[in-house]
Amino acid sequence: MIDYERESARFKALGHPVRLQILDLLRRGEACVCHMEIELDKRQAYISQQLMVLRESGLVEARKDGMKVFYSLADGTLNDLLEQILGPIPPGEPVGMIGCPCEVCGAEPIAELIARRKLRGLRPSDQDTL
Ligand SMILES: [Zn+2]
Repeated sequence: MIDYERESARFKALGHPVRLQILDLLRRGEACVCHMEIELDKRQAYISQQLMVLRESGLVEARKDGMKVFYSLADGTLNDLLEQILGPIPPGEPVGMIGCPCEVCGAEPIAELIARRKLRGLRPSDQDTL
């Protein structure tokens, strides 16, 4: 049986530009909040608020690893849906990576993240000096 309540809650959660941006990030792999903060150039409190909506609607799930919390897409069907909405992930970008690529989590130097953000035309912020 189709759960119409659940499906409409999913679509409500999708209907927001920043939440779509978070999902676009997460379809490339797991990420922590500080990574999203840098990538999206938004405050952590704001991102956490949007993540809560995404979790409550069942689109995103959280995994605790020691002190870190990694967020990821809750199920594989979401990848197909996001591809319909946002198009395919540009070639060369990772898909379904385990573990966040940011410096806090240990993989990608923060300078590279910032450089990539500038390449995408996002405005620099105070976080650039981190
Ligand atoms: Zn991270």
